[in-house]
Amino acid sequence: MLIVAGSDSSGGAGIARDVATATRFGVGAALAVTAITAQTHAAVIAVEPVPASLVATQMWAALAAGPIGAVKVGMLATAETVQAVVDVLAGIPAVAVVVDPVLASSSGARLLSEPGIERLRQALLPAALLITPNLLELAILAGSDVARSDGEIARQAARLLGMGCPNVLVKGGHADGTLSIDTLFAPGTPPRRFASRRRDATLRGTGCMLSSAIAAHLALGHDMAAALSAAKAYLDDMFAAAVGGRQT
Ligand code: PLP
Repeated sequence: MLIVAGSDSSGGAGIARDVATATRFGVGAALAVTAITAQTHAAVIAVEPVPASLVATQMWAALAAGPIGAVKVGMLATAETVQAVVDVLAGIPAVAVVVDPVLASSSGARLLSEPGIERLRQALLPAALLITPNLLELAILAGSDVARSDGEIARQAARLLGMGCPNVLVKGGHADGTLSIDTLFAPGTPPRRFASRRRDATLRGTGCMLSSAIAAHLALGHDMAAALSAAKAYLDDMFAAAVGGRQT
């Protein structure tokens, strides 16, 4: 799989998590680094976007190096990089593209510019097979306040489907309740729920791991439902291992 994402010096999120996840499932990882970030687990200290043309060149080189079964897109930093990624994807045979819309870190630092968010809506969403927003990212992309009911979540997801992405997985990890429920929205089918136990642990990079695990399973030839179930089970294992442990 090809991972298009940013690096995180703490190792808690970003490409380090993506590669570890791909490796866990026996999937080789080719890389296009979009930004270098200096982070602790509590703060983002510096962000340096990689020039968009160099992101595109990395993607072309990765694609030339061997067959790619899926693409995972994470942090993109700038509108220029969003467009560069879209342009490369348009020039290759159809491949499953999983987009984790990385808009900000848990500590609140912005990881995609405002014009970048608009480009993501207009150009990257129609090129993606799946987008995996949490409730805050869903609201920002839909141009609404954070949803507080299942009906509002469904309406916001429908807005993203209307932008041209055929599958929207809304992550409920930050909602209340004893279960962590992610809901898959796709046109013409009822919403499908993927639940796991809510565990008493804080883990960084969960969005990175989930989207990479999904992309890895799609690269292995699994269908969307099987890839989501396997990815959710993997996250649950990671949370179980983190209970009572260090926050990483
Ligand atoms: N840094 C990078 C490079 C990321 O890709 C992400 C999320 O995908 C984050 C930080 C945010 O991770 P967290 O929410 O764990 O702070």
